[in-house]
Formats: sequence, structure tokens, C-alpha cells
Amino acid sequence: MEKKEYLRSLSSVNDLIQAVYRSRKLGGGVPRELVTEASRVVLEGVRGAILAARDEMSLDGIKTDTDELVTLVEKEVEERMQHSLRRVVNATGVVIHTNLGRSLLSEAALDALTMAGTYYNNLEFLLEDGTRGSRQVHLNKLLCDLTGAEAALVVNNNAAAVLLALTAHASGRDVIVSRGQLIEIGGSFRLPEVMAQSGARLVEVGTTNKTYLEDYRRAITSETAMIMRAHPSNYRIMGFTSEASIRELAGLAREFELVLLDDLGSGVYIDLSEHGLPYEPTIMRSLEEGSDLVCFSGDKLLGGPQGGVILGRSDLVEAMARHPLARAVRVDKLTIAAMEATLHHYFDPERAAVEIPTLAMLTADPETLRKRARGLAKKLAACGDLEAEVIEDVSRAGGGALPMESLPTWTVALTSPSYKANHLEERLRAADPPVVCRISGDRVILDMRTVRDDETGLIAAALESIAASED
Ligand SMILES: *Cc1c(COP(=O)(O)O)cnc(C)c1O
Repeated sequence: MEKKEYLRSLSSVNDLIQAVYRSRKLGGGVPRELVTEASRVVLEGVRGAILAARDEMSLDGIKTDTDELVTLVEKEVEERMQHSLRRVVNATGVVIHTNLGRSLLSEAALDALTMAGTYYNNLEFLLEDGTRGSRQVHLNKLLCDLTGAEAALVVNNNAAAVLLALTAHASGRDVIVSRGQLIEIGGSFRLPEVMAQSGARLVEVGTTNKTYLEDYRRAITSETAMIMRAHPSNYRIMGFTSEASIRELAGLAREFELVLLDDLGSGVYIDLSEHGLPYEPTIMRSLEEGSDLVCFSGDKLLGGPQGGVILGRSDLVEAMARHPLARAVRVDKLTIAAMEATLHHYFDPERAAVEIPTLAMLTADPETLRKRARGLAKKLAACGDLEAEVIEDVSRAGGGALPMESLPTWTVALTSPSYKANHLEERLRAADPPVVCRISGDRVILDMRTVRDDETGLIAAALESIAASED
């Protein structure tokens, strides 16, 4: 056949659309415009392929039957209908996985989100007298009651909290930071760069591994506005190290009337050592030891929505709330709703560790994880030559929290004589929903710490269909 004949044999856009509707495979809710657009795109693609074909062989390989085109249109429509932000199964064991959305929300936080999204609410409205209110009131009192702080402010994220604190209190002046704390987190939060953006001048003191109180003292001049401490989050310096404590820095700050800012990063409320995890300085401890301002993320160890919480002296917090930048980094009602519900859990810290998914996963009983691993391994019996082994391993907290800590966990390790680990990992990532896992040597590791009980079935189904298609 000639190219012309191939082209002539193609359906028209209208005929193709009719054929798509006759095949009835697409759901009822698909907009007609989308079907039209997909049909046009498919026909254009096929026409282009025919025109580009070099010989009879490649022409023969092009799908031109209307039935085949209908399948292509259906695929095109499905791709366009699929949301970009999708659920995934997190089998990496990393609880606060920034790339997978950090913290999951508690049931109560989800209910609050739904309420705030479904109905009008008193976001900035005083129900007592019908006048305008502040959106911050919903979290302020709660945060102060829980932590003993004088004042509170919640902004878009912790990066915004640090930027706002530096801009409001140190713009055009000096901020002293230890060289051991000039951190970069997640590639985009680099303390020196945030500092430059705020207009504050960074004054580095000490060395990478040792910084003494005297180093801070010697750096103080009439230009100094602030001493800042940053949690090293995702790294640790081991060996010969020394750092000035918050108590010492607070004394120095008092003496010279400077502001002491403590960027806690994760913001731990409960004493993790009571749950078999290493002790992390809590929010309250930093305040008690004399920080004027502390800030931390809402979606790391706190286990809430993305947010940046600022606590501390009223005069300092109020000046930040009034700063024009505060408007640019303010939180929305959904964040406030989810954050308020998350914070409520902390009135009962024991329950908080159960109700807040981040804390529940971090403190999960290894026996529970082993049972989950065994359950999944059993479900995989029908998966061809896929070998599933239940093994003990360690998981990481993630999110710059407890970076050196290995949490004992149980995993299902997969091997196959017929294909490689990275091939299996890729196939799992292409599943619906995608399953994200880690590779160790020639094995694919499914860590049960971050997998829900009701997700083991999804993983098994994904592996079954992979095994069937590899046969
Ligand atoms: C994570 C982190 C930040 C950034 O917080 P976001 O909420 O991600 O903006 C800033 N400082 C420290 C020490 C951190 O660990």
C-alpha cells in the first residue's frame, strides 16, 4: 500500500469519537472535549508516523484500524484524567520522607481538614461580637498552653519561620552562628542563603567541630542583633566536638541584649526516650533554657501538616506577626484546621504517640512489624519465581530527625532468579498505586514500618501482576 492509501484509510476525528463512545470503555464522567482532543492527538500521531515511515515494513507496523485507534484514545484520555499528585505505598521504612509527603495526618486532623474545606468557618471572625478576628487565634493559645511559651505564630513552613525571624529582628545587622551549624537541608534550605535573603549579615564563629561560648562572645559588636542556633538535622559531627549550650548562649544574649533564636528543625514535643528512641531536646526544653524564639516544622516529628511554628517572647513574636513578610508566608485555613487537631492530641502525650501516624510508626512495636512482614510474605506464595524472605533490618526516621538512629524493623526481602532487583523496583514503581521501596545488594526490600496493614494486599497484587507478566 502507498502512504496515501494508509492516510485515506484512517477514520475521521468524528468517526473515531463515535467509535470511542460505542466501545463504552471510558467512564461516564469523561468530558466530551477531552475525548475530542485525545482523538485528534492520536490521529495526528498516526498521520505523522505514516508520513515519517521509511519503508513498507515500518508502514505495516503502524496501527491504523479504528479498533486500535480507539484503544490509543482511551489510553490518552486515561493519562490526561489521572491526577499528577497520586497516592503511593511507602515501603522504604523512612517515616518522615520529604519526597513522599512527610507526615501523614491523624484521623482527627483529616476530619478537621474536611470541615474547613466543606463549610464556611470562623477563620477570621469573632463569633462573640461578629467583628473581624485573627486567623492565628486558633493556634496561639493552644501552642502557649502546651509549651508554656509566651506567644506563638504559625507560618507556611519552617524555612519561612527562619526567614521571618531573621528579617524582622536582624535585617542589616549581624547574626552569630557556629560553623558547625551552617547546614543545608533537602538541597534548598541553606542557612547562609536564607540569611542573605533576610538582609542579615552572617558572622561565623568557631570551627566545624568545636565552638565555645567565648567564640560567640568575641564576635559580639554594636552591630550584633542575634545569636542563632540551628539543629544540625541531617548530619552529626562525631568525635572531638564541643558546642555552647542554649543555657550558656541565653546568658550571653541577656548580657548584651541580643535575641537568641533556636531553629529546632523537627520540633519534638514528647520525650522520645520514653518510647525507646534516643532523647531529642524538646521544644519546651529550649524555651526553658532561655531561647527567646524557637521555630520548627509542623510536618516532621510533630506529625502535622506543613507549617512553621514560632514560639517565644511576646514582643518578638508580635513584631514578626506585624511584619509585611508575615502576610506573604501566612498559613491557610486547611493548615490551621489540621494543625489545631494535631496539637490537641498532645494534651495526652501517651495517646498522641498512638493517634499521630508519624509517632505511631516511629514507635511501632517490632513484633507488629514482624507479623505484617509475615502476612505479606504469605500472600506472595503465588508469585512465580519470586522469593520472599522475612528478615530483620533497620529503618530511618527521615526528615532530618534522628539521623544516626537505626530503628529495628522487619522487612520482606525479594529476590528472583529471572530478573534483577532494579528491574523489580522499577516495575513496583510503575504499579497502581506505585510501591516505593529500597534496594540492598541484589534484593528489593519492603520495610513494614511505613506500610499500613491494609496496604500489604496492594503490594501483593502488584507483585502478582508483575510475576504474571514476566512469565
Ligand atoms: C527541616 C528544617 C528546616 C526547613 O523546614 P521546612 O518546614 O521544610 O521549611 C529548617 N531548619 C532545620 C534545622 C530543619 O531541620
